[in-house]
Amino acid sequence: MSDYQYPRFQKGKLVFTELSLHERLLKALSALSFEKPTPVQAAAIPHAIAGEDLYIIAQTGSGKTAAYVLPTLQRLLDDDSKPLAPRALILSPTRELAQQIHKDIQDLARFTFLKSELVIGGEDFKVQAAKLRKNPDIVIATPGRCLEQLGAGGLDLSTIQTLIIDEADRMLDMGFAEDVLTIAQACPEQRQTMLFSATTGNAGLKRIIEQVLREPRWLELDSVRDDTPAIRQQVIAVDDNAHREALVKWLLLNECQGKAIVFTNTRVMADRLNGVLRAVEGLRVYVLHGEKDQKDRKLAIERFKQGGSGVLVATDVAARGLDISELDLVINFDMPRSGDDYLHRVGRTGRAGGEGVAVSLVAPHEWSLMSSIERYLRRQFERRVIKELAGSFKGPKKLKASGKPVGAKKKKDDKKKIKRPKTPKPAARRKPAVPKGEVVTSSDGLAPPKRRT
Ligand code: AMP
Repeated sequence: MSDYQYPRFQKGKLVFTELSLHERLLKALSALSFEKPTPVQAAAIPHAIAGEDLYIIAQTGSGKTAAYVLPTLQRLLDDDSKPLAPRALILSPTRELAQQIHKDIQDLARFTFLKSELVIGGEDFKVQAAKLRKNPDIVIATPGRCLEQLGAGGLDLSTIQTLIIDEADRMLDMGFAEDVLTIAQACPEQRQTMLFSATTGNAGLKRIIEQVLREPRWLELDSVRDDTPAIRQQVIAVDDNAHREALVKWLLLNECQGKAIVFTNTRVMADRLNGVLRAVEGLRVYVLHGEKDQKDRKLAIERFKQGGSGVLVATDVAARGLDISELDLVINFDMPRSGDDYLHRVGRTGRAGGEGVAVSLVAPHEWSLMSSIERYLRRQFERRVIKELAGSFKGPKKLKASGKPVGAKKKKDDKKKIKRPKTPKPAARRKPAVPKGEVVTSSDGLAPPKRRT
């Protein structure tokens, strides 16, 4: 795999010192060994420091967190007002992502006096309120708990200068649209808002953009669909669950020196597989899914992160926001239900310029779903057979031009499953033809959406 390029982190000649960042932030960047801004950082930071509203399409793993944290810290350092309430609010769809953002802020703000605090579910409400009384500069929140603290008077958003909505598409998928709008309404109208999304989303995202952002600058980095070149993506045809389990064990024992995540579609399957893998000598196995309480989830992530090797069995809840370095294998125990879920799963590997392998185990009934995902990503996965464990299913004998097996029924909801992100109309008009991989920026041509907050 040494011939793999790491395009996301090798492009561009810009260095951080050219981005008008405070020397304390530059010191933190050098302590973290971040030498050059990633494309999303290079594109976003100057506009964000200038106080513009931004709508950015960038994937987890692109360095998007620092792309909004650095300018936010810079603006806080430049601001002399000392309000008794937070000045920046970051909304995250999941607790895990919020914790990751909190850690990134601590790393980047380590040579400043700026402080951040988490407002997420699963943690003691009163302890959280007490922490908020210490006036953190930045609050990182999940929408539900944010509204609860707001309602209880524990959180005051009247002094927010910067609102960041991270993984907005996921936020909407999880049903947080109204919560996000309510929270935005609780922030002052005169504020900066930055919205990040991995996909161009649907009508729901467009509505949020229109209501929450003001004359946003639209930045689209490499489309998510093109942005996984450092990951080898393979499929193995499987007969049944017993065959899947045997393959997972083989892959973990033979092809993974470091860390791996095995994704399952259901919690029940995650628990079952956890049991199966724990019985395998030499594997350190943890499980992560939505039914585990917050303490267990935190512990599983911490333990998994520590040490050089380990296996995390997880459902999609865990896919978002997890930033685990040295993750070299992702296994889809079963096929994810949509192209975007697939991307979020495989995006766990090959991060920060590293290389990775993603293997999907595909049973006969999943073949057409798999080929729909291939079409969505505009790439063909490598077909693979593990000799020792070759099954009787070798993939469909005859394929339609679409790649689906002959005889596969055209399901009514097939379209629904593979949601192609619809480019919002105004943005499509503004999108100039640029070579793939270039950053597209524009702020003109967009009918200035009125902020109704
Ligand atoms: P994110 O997309 O924000 O989740 O970041 C993905 C990973 O890239 C994280 O491990 C970051 O610490 C890392 N990262 C962010 N910016 C840079 C940079 N400029 N150089 C190297 N690594 C970075």
